[in-house]
Amino acid sequence: MSTEAALIHAGNIQTHFAPQLIDWQRQHGRHNLPWQQNKTPYRVWVSEIMLQQTQVATVKGYFTRFMQHFPTVQSLANAKEDDVLALWAGLGYYTRARNLWRCAQMVMEEHAGQFPSSAEVLVTLPGIGPSTAAAIASICFGQRISILDANVQRVLARLLCFEHPVNTTTNKKILQECATKLLPSESLLRKDSKAMSTYTQGLMDLGASVCSIKQPNCIQCPVQALCLAKTQNKQTALPYKTPKTAKKQENWYFVWLENAGDILLMQRSKELNGSNVWSGLWCFPQLAQPWSAKAQPADAVYSVKHELTHKKLQLHIARQLVSNRKNAEQELHKLLKNKHPENAGVQFLWATPEQLVTLGLPAPISKLLCACKKHTNQASLL
Ligand code: SF4
Repeated sequence: MSTEAALIHAGNIQTHFAPQLIDWQRQHGRHNLPWQQNKTPYRVWVSEIMLQQTQVATVKGYFTRFMQHFPTVQSLANAKEDDVLALWAGLGYYTRARNLWRCAQMVMEEHAGQFPSSAEVLVTLPGIGPSTAAAIASICFGQRISILDANVQRVLARLLCFEHPVNTTTNKKILQECATKLLPSESLLRKDSKAMSTYTQGLMDLGASVCSIKQPNCIQCPVQALCLAKTQNKQTALPYKTPKTAKKQENWYFVWLENAGDILLMQRSKELNGSNVWSGLWCFPQLAQPWSAKAQPADAVYSVKHELTHKKLQLHIARQLVSNRKNAEQELHKLLKNKHPENAGVQFLWATPEQLVTLGLPAPISKLLCACKKHTNQASLL
């Protein structure tokens, strides 16, 4: 179906779509998620950032722990970056955590501790994209604006039988226009002050639990009578996407230097590691080449695979027991200085096993530690 036809269909079904979705959400939607209790812009914002790239089941525990430590935007703004990153460890995409922290500070400094109520202002804050801004503004402040995350793109592509790639800028704009046409009418919103919030939650619930990626449950769908993909039996063929380019493969080499049960760590940074991956987190020192100090050959080497959005990594770690901490640091320093002369002043931390847990290592590095533990039976390491 052409993009024009999709826009026309969105206009034709508008009067039915929103009311049906709202009724369904009230009867069958999700109402017990942690961020739906004691709903505030702060809690909705944190949940929305955590839910980017991460499943609801995983986010629930992280959200609850995060709220216990940082119950208000002020407490988050006053926190140390290290503490925020430690609570985020395992969720991945750490830029989200750093932006969350910076955004909290901006809300305190530039908005007197209150989240702006319009998507147009929210989107100017760090880490808040158009769809997240629309989610906060519509759920918390009733603004008439549509979210358009990957789930909603899929629902719309099917509902409107949109047979074009949904991941191009041009087509995303068309889908945004369609999404705007489908919004609850002004008169409905005047009669029902909670309708906009329920509508947005309904779209999220529909994408998450009914119109799923592999097996859309059309029999249970509240808008099945309006859905062109169902009529034409094209549900599982949609949405179309342009093929992704193959991920680059890389080997990353780490060294695990251990003395009296403590392990040497360094804080990652773009300057030191040449990328933003896990920036700000404590980690094993990363080298440009495998650890091969002549005086101290590695005792053992372990490897695990890990995928980033744009890379396939093979992570290798060489384990080395050392008797003298100063000598080990100097040896490592020399290797780092050769590769990164500007980082001659880098700081080391000899972490105890307890610190390894509280510092919040990147999840793949914890996985690497587990692989080592399995082989070495070093129960005290984790
Ligand atoms: Fe998705 Fe099926 Fe509902 Fe269409 S009818 S929106 S394909 S669940």
